[in-house]
Amino acid sequence: MKILMNTELVSRSDAKVDIEDRGYQFGDGIYEVIRVYDGEIFTLDEHMERLERSAKEIKITLPCSLSELKERVKELVSVNAVHDGGIYMQVTRGVSARNHLFPGADVKAQLIAYPVPSKRPEELQKSGVEAMTLEDIRWKRCDIKSLNLLGNILAKQEASEADKFEAVMIRDGIVTEGSSTNFYAVKDGTVYTHPANHYILNGITRMKIIEACGHAGIPFEEKGIRAEDLHQYDEVFISSTTIEVMPVIRLDNLEYSGGRPGPVTQSLQKAFRNLLPGGNVY
Ligand code: PMP
Repeated sequence: MKILMNTELVSRSDAKVDIEDRGYQFGDGIYEVIRVYDGEIFTLDEHMERLERSAKEIKITLPCSLSELKERVKELVSVNAVHDGGIYMQVTRGVSARNHLFPGADVKAQLIAYPVPSKRPEELQKSGVEAMTLEDIRWKRCDIKSLNLLGNILAKQEASEADKFEAVMIRDGIVTEGSSTNFYAVKDGTVYTHPANHYILNGITRMKIIEACGHAGIPFEEKGIRAEDLHQYDEVFISSTTIEVMPVIRLDNLEYSGGRPGPVTQSLQKAFRNLLPGGNVY
């Protein structure tokens, strides 16, 4: 397997991380997960723009221009013959003696990207999943796709130990998002989700879902959903690059649309798939 290290493609065995890399010591960096369908990179521009935004927000200078990075990612997909899968990419502030303060301008950011297996969870997409709510203990810059994921990891682990697929996080009585997903609730045919502000990651799948709602004629509204109102909604679903549109059939002790994916969620699954390369409709 070839790995992208900054602007070079190197063998897996030559890709080494320094013990003083700031990503390793502080989680001082950012990342992206990108999906490849049918050999085509889905929403590469959007992912690269979000990477650039995350970098800017934490004052990291990317090792090359976005257009060069896109070319390198395409090469990476091509030399590794990725057909259906994913690309993981991360950028850290670079290598320097441990110190909270940023290193000098001579220290360059370190970028790596490599293929990861990713398969559409078709069975779960058809059956739906269960989730639980947990307090959102994360910081207030969840819009940055930071390597610091402790709040997300602890929530996902707790959910998994309770046999739940996802932890849905609540901040000040409002549902923000899942530990690695965006969250939506449907009422009287309208899809509601948290506004794209500092409390959630502006998911690329979320952006595509808004587009899919447009195509399917489904009304869409950004609004903070109160945890205490969750029982008033007809359907609930979550989304991410790897799970696409995933129905949630149970959330805590609430059951939605008779424990089966609801009609609006199913229409959106279809509308979303129609946006994917390679005719990914089933
Ligand atoms: N929120 C969080 C906290 C996430 O980790 C993710 C997945 N990276 C998402 C939302 C969904 O983002 P995307 O659709 O870009 O994968």
